[in-house]
Parts: sequence; structure tokens; C-alpha cells
Amino acid sequence: MILENTQLIFHNFAVMKKIYLDNASTTAIRPEVIQEMTKVMAEDFGNPSSTHSFGRNAKSVLELSRKSIAKQLNAAAQEIIFTSCGTEANNWILRSAVEDLKVKRIITSKIEHHAVLYTVQALQKEFDIKVDYVAVKPNGEIDITNLVELLAQNHKTLVSLMHVNNEIGTVLDLSRVAPICKQYNALLHSDTVQSIGKKEIDLKELPIDFLVASAHKFHGPKGVGFAFVRKNSGLQPLFYGGEQEKGLRAGTEAVHQIAGMAKAMEVSYANLENERAQISELKKYLIEQLEIDFPGFIVNGSQDGFYNMLNVLLPFSNDKTAMILFHLDMKGIAVSRGSACQSGSIRASHVLAEMLSDEDLRKPSLRISFSHYNSKEDIDILINALKSI
Ligand code: PLP
Repeated sequence: MILENTQLIFHNFAVMKKIYLDNASTTAIRPEVIQEMTKVMAEDFGNPSSTHSFGRNAKSVLELSRKSIAKQLNAAAQEIIFTSCGTEANNWILRSAVEDLKVKRIITSKIEHHAVLYTVQALQKEFDIKVDYVAVKPNGEIDITNLVELLAQNHKTLVSLMHVNNEIGTVLDLSRVAPICKQYNALLHSDTVQSIGKKEIDLKELPIDFLVASAHKFHGPKGVGFAFVRKNSGLQPLFYGGEQEKGLRAGTEAVHQIAGMAKAMEVSYANLENERAQISELKKYLIEQLEIDFPGFIVNGSQDGFYNMLNVLLPFSNDKTAMILFHLDMKGIAVSRGSACQSGSIRASHVLAEMLSDEDLRKPSLRISFSHYNSKEDIDILINALKSI
């Protein structure tokens, strides 16, 4: 009997429509990307540093990928340096800015991703640098007036502020912040992991020094990313070895991953207008449905944040908080509590801690993040599942 029940549960789980609403954590790889990567793995296995024809083939895939990525951002190909992920690119830029560019102060915020926050803390321990945290407004936006006040103090400074916050989706207006940093002679690094592939960025127009990207956030493969490093930056490598990436990032390039990333970026930007419109509609629909079924809900951050995510505090009792993700998971629905790395732990999100009271922090907040693969039906299923808790 027990066996039969267990079998029934597994059967139901297998036939159940699975709903993925956690696209800020990672995204499904586009079929065109898988096709491109498979082709490169099968046909272009050479080492791009080799001078024979196998190597030259791989090198050509690498350089065409670099060119294609640079073109999407209106950058020069030599300004794109491939890395293993967004975390590596953030670590590299921040560390070299302190060690090699002799930055004496970093201005950042307490709502950055840990790839920036923990790196800055480690650098502060290791080096004699000052760290200033710019104020965050109650709606999760950076207080630009406070940023200007901090910049007015005379230190050699790097500003590190993320473009789109990965937990609450607030957007930094780079077209406003970049010229301000330039005016005060500060370097600007922006963690653009959540925005590249999902928002236009023109690096001829924006005086930004450093950006980072991660392919798995825009329907590309995991384990590959890149840094945009403005020409003549003076950055030195994070680690040493071969002469790959003009000596700035040693290690044989993952050619198939890089080709997949370039393809993912190309397809994402080619479809951006349509997909953004479709996803924005889904976010609007979710808010409408929450207003009908959970009228006491509160948006963490700003309702006008990035179009692909919504972080909401739901009016559930405290005893239901711990079980909410589990219940949704049992119904085949994937959403996130705060950011992915914290979703398995009971530690409150460091981002929400900046804007919620201790009491609200204990209540259930969910991050629901979309892609073009989602539909209104997915939202109906989520709402029904939440109603049944
Ligand atoms: N920065 C932000 C804003 C992110 O959302 C993430 C991923 O969650 C990262 C950095 C880390 O990127 P990666 O997974 O490529 O190391």
C-alpha cells in the first residue's frame, strides 16, 4: 500500500507540468545555442593557441565570437576578455583595480551580489583601502545624490554598482551614473550579469570602464562569461599561465562555451523587443492576479523595476513561511526566495535586509523571474498553488 502511494506520487510528479519561474538564477539554453555548441564540439576541437589548421579553426570560432559579442555592445573586439563566469570577472576587475591601478577607495552598495560584496570585503582586509557604501533608498534604488557627495571627497576611486539587482530587479540608470563618475575622475565597474542580453547597452555612448556578463543568464551555457575592459585600462591578470586572451586570462579557452555564449547573445538581442514585450505583459499579469487573490501583498523594491522579475512579500502567517518553497516545489513550480545561493538556507537575504523591517524580513518573500518560455498559464498555476497553501 505504501509502495503504491509512493508510486502514485512519483507518477503524478512525472506527468505534472513543471513551471520554471526562476530565470534570474539561470535560464534554459536556447535550441540554436545547443546546436551551435554541438557543432563546435564535433568539428572545432582544436586548441586555439595551436598554429596548425585545427588550432586556426578553433581560433577563428573564438575571434568571430568575440567580434559578435563586441558588436552587440558597440565595443571593440579586443575589449572583450573571456572568463569562466561572472564571479571570476568581478573578482578580477576589483582586485586588479586595487593591486595594479592603485585605487584607494571603492564605492559600492550593500545590495550588490556577493561576487562583488565579499570581494570588496576581502580586499579591504588585505589592502589599505577605504570602502564607502552608497545609501540605498527604501525602494531599493541607489541614492545618486549620496553617490555625488561621496565622489566629491578626494580619493582615487572605483565605483562598483550593479546594473540590475538580481534579487529585487531595481535598475541603475547607467546613463546618469557613468558621466557623474567620469566628472569626478572615478573608474566605473558595473556588474551587468542580470542585464546583458536583456537590455541594450551602448559602450560608445556610456563612459563605463568595466562590465561583466555570464552566459547562463541569457539562455547560454553555464561556466562561461566575459569582462568588458575598456582599452588601455592597465588591468593585470588575476592568475598566470599561458598567453591566452592577450595574457590577461591564462588557460585554454572553452571554445564551445564561448561560441554558445556568442550565439545566445546574438539571438537574445535579435529578439529583444518581442521578448521584452511578452515578458513585461507576464509581469503585469502577475501583479494583477496578486492584487485579486493576495490584496495585502507588497512589492519589495520597486514595481517599476526590471521587466523580468518581481520580488513580493506575501501576506502569509509566519508558520507558513518555512514551507512555502517546499510546497511549490512539490507542485513542480520553481521560484526563489531571495537569491538562489540563499534559497536553501534560513539566512535572510542581505538585499531585503536593507529595506525591510525585522518583522517583514521573517515573512515570506518570493522572487518570481520570467523568460520568454513562460506563459500566463504558468502564472495561473502559481497563483492557484499559492492559494492552496
Ligand atoms: N552577479 C550577479 C548580479 C548575479 O546575479 C550572478 C549570478 O547569480 C553573478 C554575479 C554570478 O555569476 P556567475 O554565476 O556567472 O558566477
